[in-house]
Amino acid sequence: MQQYFTGEEIHSGEILDLDDKILYHLQKVLRKDGSYIFRLCDRNGTVYHAHLINKKQCQTMDRLDENNELSCDITCILSLIKNDHFELCIQKLTELGVNRIVPYQAQRSVVRFRDNRKLERIRKIALEAAEQSHRNRIPEICEVAALKDLDKYKSRYNYVCYEAEKNLASLECKGSVTYIIGPEGGFDEKEYKKITEMGYQSVSLGKRILRAETAAIYFTSNIVGKCQ
Ligand code: SAH
Repeated sequence: MQQYFTGEEIHSGEILDLDDKILYHLQKVLRKDGSYIFRLCDRNGTVYHAHLINKKQCQTMDRLDENNELSCDITCILSLIKNDHFELCIQKLTELGVNRIVPYQAQRSVVRFRDNRKLERIRKIALEAAEQSHRNRIPEICEVAALKDLDKYKSRYNYVCYEAEKNLASLECKGSVTYIIGPEGGFDEKEYKKITEMGYQSVSLGKRILRAETAAIYFTSNIVGKCQ
C-alpha cells in the first residue's frame, strides 16, 4: 500500500487538501481513484488510512498504531563517493532505518556537491525510500560536513570503519550510534587520526576491503539486527 508524508498534524475523519506532488502520484502515476486506500503519515509520525474524495482532497480514516522506527537513533556520516553509489546508499540506509545521513567531504573524496541541487535530489530519494519502506520518519539529510564538523554529530556510541583496523569490535548501539564510512580511496592518515582523537572508535568489517557503499550497508545491517 502506497504511503505519503504530510508536514501537518492530522486526525481521523478529517478532510484534507493534498499536496500537488501526492495528487500527481496518486492520479497520474498510479491512476487511482476514490476507491483506493493509501497511508498518510503526519508530522508526528502517526499513520492513517485515507482515500480521495475528489480531485484535490482526501478523507482520513482509521489511525494505525504502528511504529516502524528502530529503537536506536542512527547517524551515518558518509563520505562523498561516486554519485550513483552515494544515491544507492541513501536509498538503502533509509530502508534499513537510519535517522540521519551526513554527506562528508573527506580528504580523498573526488566528488563534490557544487550546488544545492544535489542535496535536493538526495532528499527526494530519502523521502521516496521512506514512503516505500513505511517509515514513520523521513531521515534527515544534513548539509555537507567538513572534518571539523564531525564532532557535533557524535552519539552515545561512535565508530569509524577503517579497512586497516584488525579488530572486529563488538558493536554497541543502545540509544544512539554514529558511524563514519570513508571514500573510495580510504581515509587520509592525518584525517583518520583526527577522527579517532574526536572519540570515534575504529572498527574492522572483516578481512576483505569492501566498497564504501557495501561497508555502509553492511555496518547498518549489523546495528539494525541488534535494535529492531
Ligand atoms: N583504502 C581502500 C578502499 C577504501 S574502502 C583502497 O583504496 O583500497 C571505502 C571505505 O569503506 C573505507 O574508508 C572504510 O570506511 C570502509 N571499509 C571498507 N572495507 C572495510 C573493512 N574491511 N573494514 C572496515 N572498514 C572498511
